[in-house]
Amino acid sequence: MILKLALRLLPLLLLPVPFLLRDQLHLLTPGHQLLLNTLPWLLALMVMLLAIGFKHGRILLLSLHFACAATLLHATADAGPDNPASYVLLVLLSLFWPLGQVVLLLLPERGLLSRSGMLRCGCLIVIYLVPGLIWLGSPQLLTQLLPHLPLALLNFIAPGLALPTAAFWWNLLLLLPICLLRLRRQPVDTLATAALSFAFLISLSQPGQPLLNSGYHLLAQLLLIGALIHHGYGMAFIDTLTGIPGRRALEHYLIGPGRHYSIAMLDIDHFKKFNDRYGHDIGDQVLRMVASQLNLVRGGGRLFRYGGEEFTIVFKRRSEQEAFDALEQVRQRVADYPMKIRDQNRPEDDQSGRNQRGSNSSDTSIVKVTISIGVCQNKAGETPREVIKRADQALYLAKERGRNCTQAGNNKPAAKRRKSRTDFARA
Ligand code: GH3
Ligand code: MG
Ligand code: MG
Repeated sequence: MILKLALRLLPLLLLPVPFLLRDQLHLLTPGHQLLLNTLPWLLALMVMLLAIGFKHGRILLLSLHFACAATLLHATADAGPDNPASYVLLVLLSLFWPLGQVVLLLLPERGLLSRSGMLRCGCLIVIYLVPGLIWLGSPQLLTQLLPHLPLALLNFIAPGLALPTAAFWWNLLLLLPICLLRLRRQPVDTLATAALSFAFLISLSQPGQPLLNSGYHLLAQLLLIGALIHHGYGMAFIDTLTGIPGRRALEHYLIGPGRHYSIAMLDIDHFKKFNDRYGHDIGDQVLRMVASQLNLVRGGGRLFRYGGEEFTIVFKRRSEQEAFDALEQVRQRVADYPMKIRDQNRPEDDQSGRNQRGSNSSDTSIVKVTISIGVCQNKAGETPREVIKRADQALYLAKERGRNCTQAGNNKPAAKRRKSRTDFARA
């Protein structure tokens, strides 16, 4: 738990590192300095290629965005903020940056090779290319803007930080709400993109330090590689419907399960009839509800979606009896859960619906969902696959006993499964 939290917070914890090391960066040999300046670009290329492989357009654009902004910052490093044209360019950069980030975070994911994907890449490059070219070719155009800048863009936020006060608040105003909004749904991605956004701001506040800028660029591209690895992990191991680990994760978890452990197989009762009656979408909602309730299992149980409407819970270092008690709790929890579903017969238009049911009645009804469970402890020399097989037989026995119950596997052998009457009923 602590390790998971530390990993999630790692991008934010790494943020001050390049800044704290800024004096040491100047002690690097010219060869190492060249490496530090080149590495971020190589990593950016790698991130973009990997993002194309993973079909993750947002990460590609975030990498490109950082690379474009860092290029401009790097280009102005020699002139520094004392040069008027460079100063105006830095101000523009500090205003564009959060806008670009917010747009990239809000836009829906699109295929990279689609027209919209190409358009986004093109816009991003042009937005940074135009001011860059003006700065190179006609810097006086930028200098002319200087007298028109408001005072808040001419004062720095603090001594030693060359970030205009207004630009700082502008960044905070745009970036903070979007990060907070996304934090609950996508904590890992959000913390990484928040760190990335603020990494550029810190970099921007030190415009005369190209090595520090490269350090932050390097950190940003590493964070994006981390985000891609996390994304790949999710695709391989997490079930998209329920958000819990899937079958592949179970197989990995059962490599070296320890000397003694128990495995439970769980199956929703009469789920097919449920689907037939209420439709697949409601069926999916039931699956999510069951997964979320099962996830509360105690006794050290680890939940996986085995496939379809079947789940597996592994209890490492737990006896069958210990697992049995924890399973009985979650079985009861699912059975007691008031699953609200919208009435299929409700009228299509709102007005007639209101007329039909009056102001106080509701168009939702509550249905009862139950699960059956089979659980087994491993025997000496048995493989996890064999334990799962026995737990599955115990599950059949639980179905045979009338469903909505837990069956320990070390009892008599399972009888052939028989279909019985429906268990789900309107409460
Ligand atoms: P029993 O009590 O004997 O387990 O009966 P059952 O109807 O639950 O068992 P059966 O294996 O006949 O039906 C399983 C159903 O689960 C069939 C399939 O339509 C449904 N199902 C499997 N995966 C999903 C899914 O991801 N979403 C939805 N909505 N339904 C699914
Ligand atoms: Mg089944
Ligand atoms: Mg079932």
